[in-house]
Amino acid sequence: MAFSDAVREGFQKELEGLRSAGIFKTERFIHSAQAADISVEFPAGSAPKKVVNMCANNYLGLSSHPEVVQAAHAGLDSRGYGMSSVRFICGTQDIHKELERRMTEFLGAEDTILFPSCMDANAGVFEAILNESDVMISDRLVHASIIDGIRLCKAERDIFKHADMEHLERKLELHKDKRLKVVITDGVFSMDGDTAPLDEMARLCEKHGAMLFVDDSHSTGFIGKTGRGTHEKYGVVGKVDIITTTFGKALGGASGGCVSGRRELVEMCRQRARPYLFSNTIAPVVVAGVLRVLDLLSKSTERRDKLEKNAAYWRKGLTEAGFVLKEGDTPIVPVMLFNAKLSQDFSRDLFDEGIYAVGFFFPVVPKGAARIRTQISAGHETHHLDKALAAFVKVGKIYGILGKTKEEIVERYGA
Ligand SMILES: *Cc1c(COP(=O)(O)O)cnc(C)c1O
Repeated sequence: MAFSDAVREGFQKELEGLRSAGIFKTERFIHSAQAADISVEFPAGSAPKKVVNMCANNYLGLSSHPEVVQAAHAGLDSRGYGMSSVRFICGTQDIHKELERRMTEFLGAEDTILFPSCMDANAGVFEAILNESDVMISDRLVHASIIDGIRLCKAERDIFKHADMEHLERKLELHKDKRLKVVITDGVFSMDGDTAPLDEMARLCEKHGAMLFVDDSHSTGFIGKTGRGTHEKYGVVGKVDIITTTFGKALGGASGGCVSGRRELVEMCRQRARPYLFSNTIAPVVVAGVLRVLDLLSKSTERRDKLEKNAAYWRKGLTEAGFVLKEGDTPIVPVMLFNAKLSQDFSRDLFDEGIYAVGFFFPVVPKGAARIRTQISAGHETHHLDKALAAFVKVGKIYGILGKTKEEIVERYGA
């Protein structure tokens, strides 16, 4: 059927439905490089305004680091702009192999395979290694890209309650007769900023003969003493069978992802993972940038240490000001507002004060759990955090929520 007036009207109604439900997404245009200070046009058509960025995944502040930019330039000069081929035909350069080797070393794994993105890594990995005789047991709150990967795989699916180890063990017992069992979790959960108890999970996997899969996109580069990730924090380096992660967050923030882990599993991905076989890999310019990021991270832990300090400072400031936060010790610090409209109003008022922090509400987070998710960066200086804190306090006072409990906020604004 052609794109008739009736078809067009159908889509227009659907889009209108999103708008009236208040879940229509609009983007704000940044007129500068990604950094702690950005220049943002919002609403569209207005003059760009300088604001402090409190909601990027730029955890280590490397998105626009001069050495990374310089390395990317050099990569562009020496290896060109594009590959014009998938890996197995003629799309593999020496630097792609070097990045795989360096990630293997950084994560303490056996081997690594690059993907165009972590979304693609998650979409390809399960189908490449599992079949109808197997089971995938995932945490209820895993990232959308994992859910898609699970959907593409013919193995049986099951779910355990978020970070509930007792429930996980019951599921492992239930599926004891499967050929292969894979337990699947995020390392750091991006909406709440909590970490998966990988020590317990590794122990249960060992006990029940299951493999452990961790998506460490919100951890690689800064969680753990030397920033290797959640497995380092929990002392289980070498015990996670499959790690997927992204280069699109802390590691320079451009794009790309990978699967790291057991040698044979990585090889299965090289033979079978469809996003690897049928889509171009990471552009040489980006590979060169990520390699420089890994150089910086292996030389010193200065950046992840500064990030840890910044996050603790920010958390302490908000707590003392009387905000309700999600408990945790990662640079993801959710300021709980509970009510969806309040989260949007609060975010708009912060923007007027020169602070860019987006409000999240259902369906991105559960109903009645609306929030402003702040994300701290090593690119933040104390003056950025102090300015942001002053703005949060000013706006918090306007809405009368400072020092109030969850119940009091919900009573006043609804959930
Ligand atoms: C951001 C994210 C991804 C997607 O990463 P891309 O490389 O941008 O596709 C996958 N998993 C998790 C947990 C993420 O947070």
